[in-house]
Amino acid sequence: MHPSTNPHIQRDTQPNDLIVIAGAGGFIGGSLVRYFHELGFSRIRAVDKKPLPDWYQRTPGVENLCLDLSDPDNCTTAVQGATEVYNLAADMGGMGFIERFRIECLRSVLINTHLLEAAYRAGAQRYFFSSSACAYNTDLQQDPNVRALKESDAYPAMAERGYGWEKLISEMFCQEYWAERGMQTFIARFHNVYGPNGTWDGGREKAPAALCRKVIEAIDTDDLRIEIWGDGEQTRSFMYIDDCTFGIDQITHCNELIATPINLGSSELVSINRLVSLIEDIAGVKLERRYKLDAPRGVAGRNSDNTFIQQVLGWEPTTPLHTGLEKTYAWIEEQYTDRKAGKRTVREVFVPVD
Ligand code: NAD
Repeated sequence: MHPSTNPHIQRDTQPNDLIVIAGAGGFIGGSLVRYFHELGFSRIRAVDKKPLPDWYQRTPGVENLCLDLSDPDNCTTAVQGATEVYNLAADMGGMGFIERFRIECLRSVLINTHLLEAAYRAGAQRYFFSSSACAYNTDLQQDPNVRALKESDAYPAMAERGYGWEKLISEMFCQEYWAERGMQTFIARFHNVYGPNGTWDGGREKAPAALCRKVIEAIDTDDLRIEIWGDGEQTRSFMYIDDCTFGIDQITHCNELIATPINLGSSELVSINRLVSLIEDIAGVKLERRYKLDAPRGVAGRNSDNTFIQQVLGWEPTTPLHTGLEKTYAWIEEQYTDRKAGKRTVREVFVPVD
């Protein structure tokens, strides 16, 4: 369904209104820039703290700014003249990153706090915040055969340490800007997003990209073994990037969802072992599995309950995991080959701030 044909959507933006996307040098932000550009929006400002050559995607015709948005003055510059602001900027990564660097994750609270205030002062009409399923109560996620998480499961709160608590408090900022100041804010809790143009090595990558890379490496080095974090029985759902960008657009233009957190995720639950089998199938290989039981593995199970999104939007993410993984695998394989051939590819190296 195209957003303009969905009766639940109130798109009040004109094609020449200014859309600002924070975190545009990253995976989802960069894809969202391309998505709006392809929809015909001619004024898009893309912002990220990374230097431009390190952005995953740069869409032609878009204004690109390199600014650190934890600084309030930079936020004011970033949102000047904006009709809509999308906050996809955060210091984040897969389980290996968010379990180890909680301070970096918590510091992202500065980005949303300053960006939201700047957007309000600039008179922006709609503000989107990218929250996460890590905001949910971890006590409800101790079993691989999980009950899918519904929106009310965030409270009583026992979020993922660091990263999850930052998301919860930033959600609350968004809700209070609506309650006290009438600013229209929108909040999606993403469940693992994957696809081309995201992190695939360096320590921030998430399970689908990391496993694709490991399979590619195993084939390339003819060492047909793979290391899996945990016992592989932990379960998750994975949403393909195109469903994510489409969902962000719909959520931000649905007035029923003002200041109301909503799941944006696939409800196709798989174990990590199953995910490895799917990737092996795509690669046409069978690897010997080695389990690293002391590695970060996150909660035992997590799935998205999509009852609410179906109710308000009549839609939920639908790309089958196998289809999305084929595209992701092909992209990572290309990156891997290019890097081996000495071509420039984006490499993320994490250096914590002192
Ligand atoms: P990403 O790391 O690829 O992109 C985030 C971008 O934010 C990076 O390019 C980074 O340089 C930028 N950034 C960080 N600090 C900044 C600052 N101070 N100023 C300006 N830019 C800054 O991550 P992503 O996967 O694209 O995630 C986007 C958003 O979605 C984040 O808020 C993340 O927490 C959320 N999210 C993602 C997933 C997922 O599976 N990818 C799941 C849940 C939530």
